[in-house]
Order: sequence, then structure tokens, then C-alpha cells
Amino acid sequence: MHRFLFGLLLLLSAGAASALSHAEVMAGAERQYRGYLRELQAQHQLDSDPVFHERVQRIVKPLIAQAMHDYPESAGWQWEVHTTPEGDDNAYAMAGGKLLVSRAYVDKLLLGDAELAMLLAHEIAHAVLRHNLLEYEEAMRLEPAWRERPFAELEDAVDNDSALMRKLAPLGLKQEAEADREGLKLAWRVGWPGAALARYYLKLVRASHAPNFEQHVHPAPSQRWKAAQELAGILEAAGR
Ligand SMILES: [Zn+2]
Repeated sequence: MHRFLFGLLLLLSAGAASALSHAEVMAGAERQYRGYLRELQAQHQLDSDPVFHERVQRIVKPLIAQAMHDYPESAGWQWEVHTTPEGDDNAYAMAGGKLLVSRAYVDKLLLGDAELAMLLAHEIAHAVLRHNLLEYEEAMRLEPAWRERPFAELEDAVDNDSALMRKLAPLGLKQEAEADREGLKLAWRVGWPGAALARYYLKLVRASHAPNFEQHVHPAPSQRWKAAQELAGILEAAGR
């Protein structure tokens, strides 16, 4: 009887964040992504630099093909990669393979093609490793009240609620290190030389002298550069 009631309660609570599925997370990401794209479109900033857009597409396509092969779940996704000349965010990937890349960031760091491949592979890794879903689950573990509240509120909170964001920071750092590692391996499998990929992090080290450069969400660039060099060395030694 109690078990039956419990089952009924679970059914009634559908829509709350308690039993979050990756499909729901992807649907939410899709909604947010469409919103960003609409804003960029309204400002004539969506895919508006054909040379940059073409360059990103050329580099990202083989990376996505490799990801679809290595992470079969992602073969069924509607992958999308858009670009913008400006943008506060450097680049991001949302659940389900929705990417946005800013030319301002790529220009600022003077990224060559292999370094841009590393940036894109890092973002792809976040998506295929389901980092969004894991972050929401961690938020619900840390603050169980989220299980009873609408998922849309949690979606907003992980980006805007500073107290929750502080609590999620340790997981964020772990996810960044994982995306660095798995992204480098992914791009290496596509055929990029490991050492050339690792140089993306050297560019970050150089740029990191600018104030407030991503320190709040990423491990120290010097640490990322060291880890990437080590991993590239291991991959090159093992052979392709
Ligand atoms: Zn990242």
C-alpha cells in the first residue's frame, strides 16, 4: 500500500526536477539555445562572419563525427554549431550538442587551427560527458529542495544563484579538467598532433594575465597547460 502511494506521488511530481532525465535536460538546453540564437539574430550577430563561420565548421565537423562514433548516444543528437563575432562567452556547448563560438575570443587568443580544434573538442566533451545533467543532479544532492521545484528554476539557478554556484564550483573544476582531458584525446583521435592541441593552454596561460580571466570557473591555466602537455606526451608515445 505504501509502495503504491509512493509510486503515485512520484507520478504526480512529474515536471519537478526530482527524476531528471537527460532528455529533459536536452529539451531545456534546446529552449535556452534557441533564445540565445534569437537574440544574436536580432542583433545581426548570428553566423555573420562567413570566413570565421566556415573555419569553425571545417574544424568542428570531423570532431563531431568522431564524438558520434565514440559516444554512440550522441549519434542521435541534432548537433548544431553557430558562431558570433562578439559575445561575452568564449565558447560553450549545451546538452545535446548545441555549440556557440565567439570570434572575439578566438581572435584575442590568436588561436591557430589546432588550438581552435582543442577549444571545440573541449566543448564537445562537456556535451558527450553529460556535464549539464551531472551538474543538476549535484545541485539536487547539495540542496534537496530542488527536487520538488520546477526544473526551469534549477536551470536558471545554476547560472545565476551565486550561493548555489559556489557550492557547485568543485564539481565544475572537475568537469573542466575532464573536458580538457577527454577533449584532447578526441581531437587527437581525429588526427591533430597532441603537442599542437596542448598549445591552446599555452595561449590561455599568456592571456590569463588579463584581469579576471576565467579564474572563477576554470582551473588555473598553468595547471591546464601542464596537464595537456603530459597527456599529449603519453598519446604521442603510445602512437595513433
Ligand atoms: Zn569548459
